[in-house]
Amino acid sequence: MLHKNRVRNIKCMNDVNELAKELTQITWVGCQGFKIKNYYLLNDSTSEDSAQEYTIVWATKGVLLEIESVTIGWMSTDSAEKFLREMLNGKYNNHIYRVCNKKILETENHKCALCA
Ligand SMILES: [Zn+2]
Repeated sequence: MLHKNRVRNIKCMNDVNELAKELTQITWVGCQGFKIKNYYLLNDSTSEDSAQEYTIVWATKGVLLEIESVTIGWMSTDSAEKFLREMLNGKYNNHIYRVCNKKILETENHKCALCA
């Protein structure tokens, strides 16, 4: 993850297809994050004009593990959905890069310079 201390505003999702659409059809502010099951996708893009990069974080056993990063901006909705299904099936769970600080996730009353 490039932006290790960037606080993300987390939107919870249940549907893989809906999440794939949100990720590929909308350019989100840099502080946007999504949660599906026990995985977080955190926007790690350098700017809203650059290809949208997301870091994948797996919440397991009380810790947050950074396991993968993906350039969603280059994917079709179908390939993003395929990626998400593989992620949910645990394909990346053994790629552990580092433990993340839980303070980077916010679910309510979020405000920062990136979304102001
Ligand atoms: Zn923000």
